[in-house]
Parts: sequence; structure tokens; C-alpha cells
Amino acid sequence: MWSYDDSRSALRDVLRLSRAMTFKAAVADLSLGGGKGVIMTLPYARLSSERRHAALLDFADTVEALDGRYITAEDVGTSSRDMKVIAERTQHVTGLSRQRGGSGDPSPFTALGVEYAVRASCERVFGSASLRGRSACVVGLGHVGSRVAGRLARQGAKLIVADVDEGKRRLAEELDARWTTPELALEAQVDVLVPCALGGFLNEETVPQLCTPVIAGAANNQLADDAVADLLAARGILWAPDFVVNAGGLINIAEELRGYDAAVARRRVRGIADTLLKIFDEAQAMGVTPLTAAMELARRRLTS
Ligand code: NAD
Repeated sequence: MWSYDDSRSALRDVLRLSRAMTFKAAVADLSLGGGKGVIMTLPYARLSSERRHAALLDFADTVEALDGRYITAEDVGTSSRDMKVIAERTQHVTGLSRQRGGSGDPSPFTALGVEYAVRASCERVFGSASLRGRSACVVGLGHVGSRVAGRLARQGAKLIVADVDEGKRRLAEELDARWTTPELALEAQVDVLVPCALGGFLNEETVPQLCTPVIAGAANNQLADDAVADLLAARGILWAPDFVVNAGGLINIAEELRGYDAAVARRRVRGIADTLLKIFDEAQAMGVTPLTAAMELARRRLTS
């Protein structure tokens, strides 16, 4: 659920997000297709709780009409409580609480996957997956980013963090992290930039400003368009494809669909590190960007 300036931007976003979901499921080797739902709210208008509830029920009716061809889940702007509202009208919803037979909030699993993606990317660039003493800048301290920041801090990384919400400064203090603005975060001189807010921020203007050799984070659709992957490669920046890095939540949901075991889900999520290393190897061998190698892997899986 997000606010867009107009329905055309919302439509463009949902199409890009659903394409990424297809690649994400294929690269993670899940027997799921790809789909995404967007509930568009108007910019700068706060929904009353009644209207929000009604919007969720309308969305649930749309999901129900698809009769299981689309299964919805929690993402930006929604919570497991919202999934409970959607479940009033459709059974095609995941991420319900464990008491209700679901697997709960997927964010901890997404965050676990991001940590392993950061480690794999560091292994590739610095020769070690250890995060002790590595500097990292986490942008966006929401459901996923706050957990990623906590995980990296516990691994001994030195953190800079940023969010548009000043209220997140408290978390920075708790983690002994330096606080900065989202704009300055892009120029932070760190070993790894970990974007965990919204997408589209890597473009022709921002790539020349980057001062990091590695980008690996949860945010969906980080590249303004696919050609930005070439700009990053030309600057010698290793960009870990977002749809590979942030697959942890979806991997967890796939486990929910086949009978839930959290330990199995965690093991599979940690496998994101191996998948990424394989993609980096293939990219190097083929002389292409990690994005091209990851999409190639997805296409092979989709046609096999
Ligand atoms: P969230 O809504 O809980 O958190 C987003 C955070 O980013 C908020 O704290 C918000 O204040 C901050 N933010 C928004 N715009 C910002 C900006 N321009 N600069 C800095 N901070 C900004 O969302 P989330 O669930 O943590 O998801 C974060 C990203 O990861 C999204 O792109 C989402 O699509 C992606 N993702 C999430 C999951 C999941 O399991 N939740 C899974 C896959 C991908």
C-alpha cells in the first residue's frame, strides 16, 4: 500500500514489481510464478482507519476473484494485521500469524537473506564474508532495514543509517550507528551500501555520486531501468540484483504454502549467498553484469 501521484505511476510500479517477482521466484528455484498487488492511496492524504479497512477488503475481493492464481502477502505499507483483514474475504493470503496457521511477518526472513547477500558480496569484493570491521550504510529502517541493521551490527559492522522518518534516530542510537540523511547516505564512503527503502534511486544522476564498491539491499526495483546495471559495472561497483537479495520473504512464504517449518525456511534463505556467488561467477565468465546473469538464470528456469 503506497501513495502515488497518479494511477499511471501506480500501474507502472506494479508491472515492474510483478516482473521482479517472476525473476525472484525463478532464481530462488520456487515453483511459484510472479505477481504483485498495489493498493494506491492519494499523495499526502492520510486514510482514516475505516477507509483503510475498506480498501483492504476491496483488495481482498480482487484477490478472491483470481481464485488462487494470485496469492497476496505483506509488503511495504502493510502488516500481518492487514493480512488478517484480507483473510476475512479470501483464503489466498499468506503471512498470517503462526496461531492462524501462517508464517507471520516475512521481514525477518528477508532481513536474514539480505545479511547473507551482503556477506557473499563482501566475499566476492574483499575476499572475506566476515562483516567484522566492515562499514555499511543501511538506508530505510522499516520492517526489513531495522532488522538488517541489527544483524549487521551484531556481526561487528560499523554502521551509518538513514531514514526519511526522524523517529528512527532512536534505533541509530541503540545500534551505536551514525545517523545521516537519505540524500547523504548515497554518497557515504562505506564498504557496502544496503538500500532497504524504496526503489528507483539508482539512476544516471545518482550512480556517479556513489562512493561504495558494493550495493546489496532489500529495496525492490533499485535501478531506474536495466541500463543502470551497466553504469554501475562501468564504475566498478558490484551490484547484487535486488530480486536475488530480497527473496528471503518469498522463500519463507513458499515454505508456508507447502507446510511450514521455520528451520527449513531459514536454511533455504541462507542459500541466497550461494545463489549470488553463482550469479557473480556466471557474470564474470560471460562478461556481463550480475543483472544480466541473474535474468539469464531466471529465464533458463522459466523455460525448463
Ligand atoms: P517498510 O515500509 O516497513 O519500511 C520502509 C522504510 O523506508 C520506512 O522506515 C520509511 O520511513 C523508509 N523510507 C521511505 N522512503 C525513504 C527514502 N526515500 N529514504 C530513506 N528511507 C525511506 O518496508 P519494508 O517491508 O521494510 O520493505 C523495505 C523494502 O524492501 C521495500 O522496497 C520492499 O518492497 C522490499 N522488500 C520487502 C520485503 C519484506 O519482507 N517486507 C520483501 C522483499 C522486498
